[in-house]
Amino acid sequence: DATTPRLLAIDPSALEISKTTTPKPVLPNEELIFGRTFTDHMLSLEWTAKDGWLAPKITPYQNLSLDPATCVLHYAFEAFEGMKAYKDKEGNVRLFRPDKNMARLNRSSARIALPTFDGASFIELIKKFCQLEERFIPSQRGYSLYIRPNIIGTQRTLGVGPPGSALLYVIASPVGPYYPTGFKAISLEATTYAVRAWPGGVGASKLGANYAPCIVPQMQAATRGFHQNLWLFEDLDPATGEKEDFVTEVGTMNLFAVMKTKDGQTELVTAPLDGTILEGVVRDSILSLARERLIPEGWKISERRFHMREVTEAAKEGRLLEVFGSGTAAVVAPVRNISYRGEIVDCGLQQNEEVGPITRRFKDWIEGIQYGEEEHPWSVKI
Ligand code: PMP
Repeated sequence: DATTPRLLAIDPSALEISKTTTPKPVLPNEELIFGRTFTDHMLSLEWTAKDGWLAPKITPYQNLSLDPATCVLHYAFEAFEGMKAYKDKEGNVRLFRPDKNMARLNRSSARIALPTFDGASFIELIKKFCQLEERFIPSQRGYSLYIRPNIIGTQRTLGVGPPGSALLYVIASPVGPYYPTGFKAISLEATTYAVRAWPGGVGASKLGANYAPCIVPQMQAATRGFHQNLWLFEDLDPATGEKEDFVTEVGTMNLFAVMKTKDGQTELVTAPLDGTILEGVVRDSILSLARERLIPEGWKISERRFHMREVTEAAKEGRLLEVFGSGTAAVVAPVRNISYRGEIVDCGLQQNEEVGPITRRFKDWIEGIQYGEEEHPWSVKI
């Protein structure tokens, strides 16, 4: 079964550490820009088809040296993850559901013929790496260390085939809150001239190759004043036999809508994991918390296909309460409106309001767990 990768062993006890002799200055919190500055070190592991995973290494952050014929540079053998380390009030460093990122990276990697790895061992190494870089992890709420695991095929060949060697490495960048001055609701442009993913494709894998083609539609949305574009998938609605534009996800976020159903129940809706959207860790966390905490309040929680006509209709009838994106970067991003086929769909926020009460509740719940204010098994102390 290609979707359940066999995990290859990593030996965390073989870790070799060589520390930098030129430590970098730690920037003041207000100067942090996402993904611009990196910590002192990197964690790397080489893999060969013959010997499996070799001894892990922590070295000073440095350039890679790759032959121009290296397969990643030609055929995009690359998969990655995005996760964060948070510092709590007591100074403990915490990861948020790192097992989820490891499982996803293994699925992504296996899909492009790159090796898998034992996630628990790799988390041990990431913990050691975070300990070493502790001084770069800001302690203020909203700040964190963004961790970027990356796996690339390193075989030197122009032959198109499974890479015989790979490099798994981790770099990290201290980051500030997505909204330094408080929430700002975003406007989306629904893209109707391009698709991000399709049934049977690789939309659920976190491959670099899924991201580069998204930039042009994103730039086009930006020229018209929208913050992000919304990816749709046109398909027949089996209920009516009509073609509909199904809502999938945003550039780097999953999408949720909160609607009143026609019989007055509050429903939280997001697209199902049908292979065309990324299986977001925050998406999963929101669904779990909603099932645990909102079903008792009478809510309906739905992972189901929904289309723009349904959203537009709910908006016109005053039943669209909130729309928000979810992802590691912002936790949640409130959506003010969606431009769709020449219409502006109002997503329910008041003029002077940047975030709705439901979206805020999810952010508070999840950040509370990430920063250890609520003890929860999802938050893993290092
Ligand atoms: N969709 C896409 C395309 C993404 O890149 C991301 C960010 N990883 C997400 C959704 C949200 O995923 P997560 O909640 O795991 O950050």
